[in-house]
Amino acid sequence: MGTFKAWVVDKTEGGQNLAFRDFDEADLMDGDVTVRVGHSTLNYKDGLALTGRSPVVRRFPMIPGIDFAGTVETSDHPDYKPGDQVVLTGWGVGETHLGAYAKKARVKGDWLVPLPEGLTPEQAMAVGTAGYTAMLSLMALDAHGVTPADGPALVTGASGGVGSVAVALLARAGWHVIASTGRASEADYLKGLGAAEILDRAELEKPGRPLGKERWAAAIDAVGSATLANVLAMTKADGAVAACGLAQGMDLPTSVAPFILRGVSLLGINSVTTPQKKRREAWARIARDLDLDKLASMTRTVGFEEVGRLGEAILAGQVRGRTVVKVA
Ligand code: NDP
Repeated sequence: MGTFKAWVVDKTEGGQNLAFRDFDEADLMDGDVTVRVGHSTLNYKDGLALTGRSPVVRRFPMIPGIDFAGTVETSDHPDYKPGDQVVLTGWGVGETHLGAYAKKARVKGDWLVPLPEGLTPEQAMAVGTAGYTAMLSLMALDAHGVTPADGPALVTGASGGVGSVAVALLARAGWHVIASTGRASEADYLKGLGAAEILDRAELEKPGRPLGKERWAAAIDAVGSATLANVLAMTKADGAVAACGLAQGMDLPTSVAPFILRGVSLLGINSVTTPQKKRREAWARIARDLDLDKLASMTRTVGFEEVGRLGEAILAGQVRGRTVVKVA
């Protein structure tokens, strides 16, 4: 066993310190599959881990990075053998289990999915946790039974990672997509992904009334807080809102009015511990339904050494779409 390069978060008296340094393979945590990481990505939660802004890192030292695509190096798991290409999102990787911003990762084989057919490892990571969460949100709306015939679909935080993929997926599924963004300069970008209308997020982010004019039949919300409360207040009768994010805040200052007077449903989305069957179904649908040209148009790729300066940028809402980290 030797060492490999990794981004490492260490605990300090004042909080935490991030360093790009050699990491001893012998210090990897337990797992039955060791993976040579090829690509990782930047998600909002990675920003929290890299900066220490919220206590998502629960163990020190920690290698942050919540998702990766890579090649199996060694395996004691019956489903995987050396050379297999795999994808990992969630399961506490980069939070409680040593993560993806490293040349190597050792994880439980049960956490992995095979690289979805039709996607390259780089494309799978252009999707990453954010895009996979957008698909889980769409699947939740579908399961609820709401359809494009019922009215428009709103996406909040539309220029971000979850939002960009959600816009592309909803448009492809036939929805009239309203993209809410604080960045007017990204209107053409969002229309290119399939948005039919742009809504200034200022219209949603302040505390509002318990009920408003019914404007959309469905929504994917990456923002939470007062925005989610307003989204619920303006959802059409019997519509549904998939709540997956907290970019504005973790609170939800709402009332029961949308639920009991309009039959609106709030659908919770948790991508971290999704069971295997649903996970694989989501990835298969991504490979089938996501327009790869649109995926390319929302993605930029950065070098491994650049990870250290990305955390602040995503928390400041300055990152557009998806960012792939080329680790190998
Ligand atoms: P991004 O930073 O890429 O996207 C978030 C977007 O939200 C920003 O681009 C911005 O969009 C908008 N935004 C940012 N700050 C504010 C604010 N203060 N008020 C209103 N809108 C704001 O992050 P991701 O797409 O990676 O993640 C989005 C959210 O989803 C995060 O909260 C993340 O933690 C959560 N998430 C949850 C998962 C789950 O399992 N439930 C999985 C993955 C992500 P714009 O400029 O267009 O307004």
